Amino acid sequence: MPLKAAIVPVTPFQQNCTLLWDEASKRGAVVDPGGDLARIVAGIDETGMVPEKILLTHGHLAHAGGAAELKEKLAGIPIEGPHKADKFLLDELAAQGLGMGMAGLRNVTPDRWLAEGDTVTVAGNMFSVLHCPGHSPGSVVFINAAQRFALVGDVLFQGSIGRTDFPYGDHDALIEAIKTKLLPLGDDMAFICGHGPMSTFGEERQSNPFVAG
Ligand SMILES: [Zn+2]
Ligand SMILES: [Zn+2]
Repeated sequence: MPLKAAIVPVTPFQQNCTLLWDEASKRGAVVDPGGDLARIVAGIDETGMVPEKILLTHGHLAHAGGAAELKEKLAGIPIEGPHKADKFLLDELAAQGLGMGMAGLRNVTPDRWLAEGDTVTVAGNMFSVLHCPGHSPGSVVFINAAQRFALVGDVLFQGSIGRTDFPYGDHDALIEAIKTKLLPLGDDMAFICGHGPMSTFGEERQSNPFVAG
């Protein structure tokens, strides 16, 4: 049975925290719980899902800032991802949050770092892991080939791509990752991104000014 998804916008950055679950078993995952834990918990209650893990696409605070607190609230369920190259970001979430007037964010250490070729499961549904650096060094994308569905974090957006104007950003690496790893997976692959509406790889291949052509 296909996984269900619900988006809970969190933080002043309107980050798409995503709840993914299997309707039969109710088991699922919380992807990128950046903050606003009360909203995330309300979403969990409304859907009736039972989170068995937390997945992180990358180390930015709007995506990972609430992960440690949510793990604690959910009896210590494991946190998987991102790639270890984002450890330096996860190690300074609390300080960064304070610098932006966001109190209560915590540093987080995942239970499992992810790398290219790894797989993760959500309620028994397999996602392959692609390492797509550029927006951040440790950004990962989760691909469910069977259900033609991806979670791409801030790698790719509808009509745009992730920022690379950070000291550690790499525009060329980001474009290469999108063009060589994501778009070849097929036009019909739908994706949820870190901010804004869903799209498909086909739509972006045709009309996204950064990667079309
Ligand atoms: Zn980001
Ligand atoms: Zn973001």
